[in-house]
Amino acid sequence: MSLEFTFTFPLPNGLHARPASLLRDEAVRFSCATVLHNGRNGLHANVKSLLSLVSADFRLGDPARLTMEGADEGLALPALEAFLRDEFPGCDSPLPEVAATRGVGFVPRLIAASGAAFYRGRPVSPGFAVGAVVVADMPGLPEGCPGLATDAVAEGVALEAAIAAVTGELHASMTSAKNTVEREVLKAHLAVAKDPEFAGKARDRIFKEGRSAAAAVQEIAQVYSEILRASESVYLRERVLDIKDVAGRLLRQLSGEPIVAGLTLEAPAVVMATLLTPSEFLALDRRFLRGLVLSEGGTTSHTVILARAFGIPCVSGVKELHGVLKPGITVLVDARRGLVIPEPPATVRRYYDLDERRYAERAGRVAGFAAKTGATADGRRIEIAANVSSAAEAEAAFGKGAEGIGLFRTEMLFMDRPAAPSEEEQVAEYRRAVTVAGSRPVIIRSLDIGGDKPLPYLNLPKEDNPFLGCRAVRFYGAHKPMIKTQFRAILRAATDGNVKLMVPMIGHVDEVRVVKALMEEARAELVAEQLAFNPDVALGVMLEVPSAAFAIPELAREVSFFSIGTNDLAQYFFAMDRGNPAVADGMDPLNSSFLRLLKKITDDAHAAGRPVGLCGEIAGRPDLAPLLVGLGLDELSMAAPLMSGMKAAIHGLKASDCDRIVAQSLLKPDAAEVRALLRETAATVSGDMLHPELIMLESEAASRGEVIKELTDRLWLAGRVGDADVVEEALWRREDTYSTGMGFGVAVPHCKSPEVIVNSVAVLKMKTPIVWNPSDSAPVGLVILLAMRDINGADTHMAVFSKLARKLMHEEFRDRLRDESDVKALTVFIRESLNV
Ligand code: PEP
Ligand code: MG
Repeated sequence: MSLEFTFTFPLPNGLHARPASLLRDEAVRFSCATVLHNGRNGLHANVKSLLSLVSADFRLGDPARLTMEGADEGLALPALEAFLRDEFPGCDSPLPEVAATRGVGFVPRLIAASGAAFYRGRPVSPGFAVGAVVVADMPGLPEGCPGLATDAVAEGVALEAAIAAVTGELHASMTSAKNTVEREVLKAHLAVAKDPEFAGKARDRIFKEGRSAAAAVQEIAQVYSEILRASESVYLRERVLDIKDVAGRLLRQLSGEPIVAGLTLEAPAVVMATLLTPSEFLALDRRFLRGLVLSEGGTTSHTVILARAFGIPCVSGVKELHGVLKPGITVLVDARRGLVIPEPPATVRRYYDLDERRYAERAGRVAGFAAKTGATADGRRIEIAANVSSAAEAEAAFGKGAEGIGLFRTEMLFMDRPAAPSEEEQVAEYRRAVTVAGSRPVIIRSLDIGGDKPLPYLNLPKEDNPFLGCRAVRFYGAHKPMIKTQFRAILRAATDGNVKLMVPMIGHVDEVRVVKALMEEARAELVAEQLAFNPDVALGVMLEVPSAAFAIPELAREVSFFSIGTNDLAQYFFAMDRGNPAVADGMDPLNSSFLRLLKKITDDAHAAGRPVGLCGEIAGRPDLAPLLVGLGLDELSMAAPLMSGMKAAIHGLKASDCDRIVAQSLLKPDAAEVRALLRETAATVSGDMLHPELIMLESEAASRGEVIKELTDRLWLAGRVGDADVVEEALWRREDTYSTGMGFGVAVPHCKSPEVIVNSVAVLKMKTPIVWNPSDSAPVGLVILLAMRDINGADTHMAVFSKLARKLMHEEFRDRLRDESDVKALTVFIRESLNV
């Protein structure tokens, strides 16, 4: 005797693992044999086996029949019937979406589950570090220094002596500094140390208020710090660090303590401070400095700029750390996600070992592209150049394979000093870059001052909207001598190489005419003074103000090249402040409206016979490479470390595909659809679902989390997923709801995610089987991961999963999977078995 009932299969996504596991859980409560028959395909499944259920390939509307046979069949029938009628149809609600882009502050599952405490901040200098905590906050008034003093004259003398000593010390450091950034910072400190007002006010405190020299220095530093802190300019606010630095040096002179007391590093260290001053940073022994954690200090502070220049990972804006990061404890700094993890447990360390391995492997893979010229697979040339701020950076960029300097930002030479650099100083700096460049182009951008980059010595009037005010070329007319000096320096440095001059923020053609008149004056002066110069320096303009984009034919009559500054162009096009994180997401360059603007610019420039490059941040994004190539740009200029990755990305593309992708993107209504198109196209370019490089043998993974990470990283390295963190999280969302352990020592974690670029199957065999899920019957030694995109409703995910489940039920299939140790043979076997 057996009992049965029929129903129509109700789930739109078919019988995949999640609903199947719920049905199985219902059935195993009874001892009777329970079988589900599929009237469409004639398959039937043992309801107590997940593999068997999934293999029966149930789809929406299939005629289904459930039979029960055994002692408690009479109990099972009403229970299963009620379950299938009342609960089953609603059990496949979609899993909560994982945001397509994770961004900063994402905490990977393994870390969240490790029980480790973690703190979030802003990753400002990328990388990863582990070390012992060294706390570097400045001491208060040094011990033994009184606040009040009776002998004002002696205190005055001590103050002058301290200023002289600090000035001498800074001069000496500056002379021996090899790094340009380091020299610039020391120069800024020298300006503070020599500042007459600072010294004057300190003297007043000593002579009028009876303060000691040390107390006077500290109080005046405090007054200035507060004024600067209250400033609306981020840049000025961050100058507090410079004041604190010089005050610290003076205090140490006055107290006789050695400089940067307590910051001697003797073992791998992570330095933590509220605000670390630049010279404290420079005084640290970089043989041992692994990372920095700052609770204040933004993205443009000198300390942060130095950290980037020296490749020290840094997380800033970490608020809660005081009292947690005790000196001497081990701390891990994840300056890619912006996480700080004190006393990381072994699981977390192992997670980051894997993370580091993937970054090192990728760096190794793209390193080979550094020496290549930028070109697509079918030969379209696109020059890959570097953005730099100094001659030293230019030298380093050429060492990394730059085909030119696409943007030499000259502002750094003018900032943090009491007056503009002399013509000779500028000639020397520009010439140094031009000399290493040889015949390669160096595009020097004339001053882009104003906005958030004031020059205190210019006394520019305060503006309510500085980004819309007298910025860049708009202030040239009022400061002709300074700009003419810069033009002269550029023309003179150009005798030795291929120099071009580029003007920022051009909005209309009249501004170009003013610049050209000024250049003409500069030339005439140089002729009159009989100074050698290159009269034929090409003039170009940045396209970063939307009005200029609609004046290309007129501009092209005046200049010989263009470079698109998308950082500003997007800010002005979308009317969103580029420095305001609250609106950052709205400035998505994938918006088709923005792409149409870029296309118009490149088309109009080419129609006028002018080359056009792009030097905003998006130039270094490999994920946008198809669009950048398809737009027809002649040159891309980016931060030097990004060049090899970009060359690698471009070498993998066909220009004809890119042209088509751009044409299609322009017709899309929004950024989401353009993003989807990019993924879709990447998928068609890359091909097969399984490739030998996706098979990992002899893994030492020690947990489910490590297996998932290893496999996801493998997909990322193969360029098959965009953000690996998002895909990892999508896999976990399924693991949360049911075990993907399929029995027989096999697990099949799987996910659908828009971050999957190419539908992929990846395989990992473990040296030692692990417990996949405590509820599984056997440890798992073989893992087959399915990562699918499944856009537009295509259910490849389900099709592959049920085919795999069917195969896994056969012993020979499992044995062959386990025994085959040749990667290529295994690839062919799986491809043929699954028909993928
Ligand atoms: C730009 O605006 O895109 C650009 C490259 O210039 P900056 O970032 O210096 O304003
Ligand atoms: Mg700009």
